[in-house]
Amino acid sequence: MQRTKILLIYTGGTIGMMQNPETNSLLPFDFSQIVTHVPELQRFDYEIESISFESPVDSSDVNQELWLKLVEIIGEHYDTCEGFVILHGTDTMAYTASALSFMLENLDKSVILTGSQLPIGVLRTDGKENIITSIEIAASKRFGKSVVPEVCVYFENNLYRGNRVTKSSTEGFNAFQSNNYPPLATVGVHINFNYSHINYSKQNRHLKIYKKLNNQVAILKLFPGISLEVLNALFNIENLRAVVLETFGAGNAPSNSLFLDTIKKAIKKRIIILNVTQCKSGSVNMGQYDTSRELLNIGVLSGFDITAEAAVTKLMHLLGEKENISDIIYELKNSISGELTINTYQ
Ligand code: ASP
Repeated sequence: MQRTKILLIYTGGTIGMMQNPETNSLLPFDFSQIVTHVPELQRFDYEIESISFESPVDSSDVNQELWLKLVEIIGEHYDTCEGFVILHGTDTMAYTASALSFMLENLDKSVILTGSQLPIGVLRTDGKENIITSIEIAASKRFGKSVVPEVCVYFENNLYRGNRVTKSSTEGFNAFQSNNYPPLATVGVHINFNYSHINYSKQNRHLKIYKKLNNQVAILKLFPGISLEVLNALFNIENLRAVVLETFGAGNAPSNSLFLDTIKKAIKKRIIILNVTQCKSGSVNMGQYDTSRELLNIGVLSGFDITAEAAVTKLMHLLGEKENISDIIYELKNSISGELTINTYQ
């Protein structure tokens, strides 16, 4: 019988970093360091094939090209591998996980991103457990099918839906939070899958890979006293297509007419404004307060409980793939791969 095959893809990140003796800073090293430091990988009953990016990167250098490379590798190995584990820096892991969740439609295999806070060569590393358990989960089957057919992030005993996480700690091993969606699995002595929260609706369909991304987008985090010059400078950028507006509380923003007129003008120029909350958890609810009612009236869209990471990558994906603005707006108001929960108020 053929052994289960898992593809391990190394993109870079702390997990594979070493100290540069000249500068004392951490920089990514080649993949052989990881395999040497995790001899346990050879004890798996599965076949583990590995691919390393030629020049591994600190994830602050991640861009659309890296996402494209990842979906192409997954596409090429989709029929021969049962699951995929991507080793990636934690800093932008939430963006990559979100982007992949939109670029890979009808997944029926696990794509799990993981990494570590301490390099794999350090005695107290958290990387070993993260890699080993990610592989174990990626290979898990139920009724002959992948248990978690989604793009996920595994970190410190929790498996999360990838487009729901945010990096929340630079220090703790528990580096990610998914405040608006429960973990898909929790890991202790046993791996406990949260079946009712895993999306099985795309199973038995053909994988479709989307490769077009448009980066004419911006994130604007509001703060009390934000100046009109800043707003105008942003909204006057030529070719700007969409802005993720990070608002206060349940989607609130200044109610003065100068602010609202600037947003109104931007919408008239067909710039999409997507309202997401600055809060760590909860949802936008435009209309609950007077300070958000007018946003709704002028055509600002609700991001509901989406993270800023998922919002910006969803926009890049939709603007890349779709011509028609009403198709884009329709998709923004709905969930593509479990990235938002539509509340009943809007
Ligand atoms: N700067 C590193 C990166 O994101 C941090 C990490 O991997 O945890 O690549």
